[in-house]
Amino acid sequence: MSTSTTSKCACPDCQCEVRPGHHVVKNEKDYCSEACADGHKSGEGCCQNSCHCHG
Ligand SMILES: [Zn+2]
Ligand SMILES: [Zn+2]
Ligand SMILES: [Zn+2]
Repeated sequence: MSTSTTSKCACPDCQCEVRPGHHVVKNEKDYCSEACADGHKSGEGCCQNSCHCHG
């Protein structure tokens, strides 16, 4: 649990790293994309096609 330069997305299944300048903060957590921050309500994928966190 360190806050260094990079951190993992707060979406439980997401493997993406949250990059400074391209991230979404919601409920005091950092997400890699709007889709993750919304909990994939619309079934949208995240920033990487290889990531299967959506759904
Ligand atoms: Zn993801
Ligand atoms: Zn994510
Ligand atoms: Zn996600």
